[in-house]
Amino acid sequence: MSLRPLHHALGDRVEDIPFTASDGTRLGLTRVVPDGGAGERPAVLVLHGLTASADMFTLPETRNLVDVLLDAGYEPWLLDWRGSCRLPYNEGRVRYSFDDVALYDIPEAVSLIQERIGGRQLLCVAHCIGALCLSMSLAAGLVTGLDGIVAQGVFLTPKLSWKTRARLHFGGELLRSRLVNIPTDFKKVGLWSKHSLIFAEVSIGADCKDPTCQILHNDSWGVGGSLFEHDNLDARTHDRLADLYGTVPMWILPHLRSVELAHTMLRFNDNDGRYDALPKNALDNAGKIEAPLMLLAGSDNRFWFDSNKICHEILTARYPQLDVRYVEVPGYGHLDTFIGRNAALDVFGPIVDFLDECRTVKAGH
Ligand SMILES: [Zn+2]
Repeated sequence: MSLRPLHHALGDRVEDIPFTASDGTRLGLTRVVPDGGAGERPAVLVLHGLTASADMFTLPETRNLVDVLLDAGYEPWLLDWRGSCRLPYNEGRVRYSFDDVALYDIPEAVSLIQERIGGRQLLCVAHCIGALCLSMSLAAGLVTGLDGIVAQGVFLTPKLSWKTRARLHFGGELLRSRLVNIPTDFKKVGLWSKHSLIFAEVSIGADCKDPTCQILHNDSWGVGGSLFEHDNLDARTHDRLADLYGTVPMWILPHLRSVELAHTMLRFNDNDGRYDALPKNALDNAGKIEAPLMLLAGSDNRFWFDSNKICHEILTARYPQLDVRYVEVPGYGHLDTFIGRNAALDVFGPIVDFLDECRTVKAGH
């Protein structure tokens, strides 16, 4: 079972690194080799969100994060963790919780990269659920040695709208009893399938006629909220949203619901000793975070709202020793902070400034 090929215009600079987590789950790891080799460049691990994939960082139609990192003197590494839509088993019934991502995928990818890069610096840019899971790995002390972390949208303190919260509680239960996942690609669904009702519901009040856009923009996966600012997308990106964002597994909702209710990242598996390495509450263990942290959010994020602003306030109050800052990008929502047509200028600029600062601090020691 192989991964769907990465969609990119990087030519032969892309190196696929075979990577299977220690619980036997096949994952994806891609190194993008800079022209002329890596030299002493710091490496940057990039983590996608749930149902997305490394594709969101290599959009050929815009200046993407990988392009910007390469030009700024970094070596990008892209992990497709087990929630990636490039992994074929996500169309099926293979189940996992965010615990597995925090326990296996992220720490093992970090170890492998650290082994490969020797003494070079390693930084991390994480988006959405990728950042949420990273927060748990860090709180567990399973990921160490990072020199800087950027977390976009959400980190330790997830907060959704009341509508999304209500749907996760009531609608989610109903949906979960009948469906394994919510698709985003209407073409694969068909008019009379059990999924077509969801597409009908999310189209209510939508300005855009594209069903995949409606399920992401008008009513995120049928649980309310909106995942991007429509005008921020290039038309070519808009037309391939179904390739960029795959199906949402229903069985992940209970873990999402529990962390949202608590407004903090929690371990889900309490009765399975394999997960004892993870703390019950990541926020209570956030003092273990050693690296400078930049919490990033679009000013118009209508999915996670002000989660990262709240996270900054809480971390600053509870752990004054942490180097943490909050950066808000005006006019941006959630996904468009990475896939927006002008993200290189508006978002990646501040990200690279922060990484450069972390790099300089480290070099000055
Ligand atoms: Zn649209």
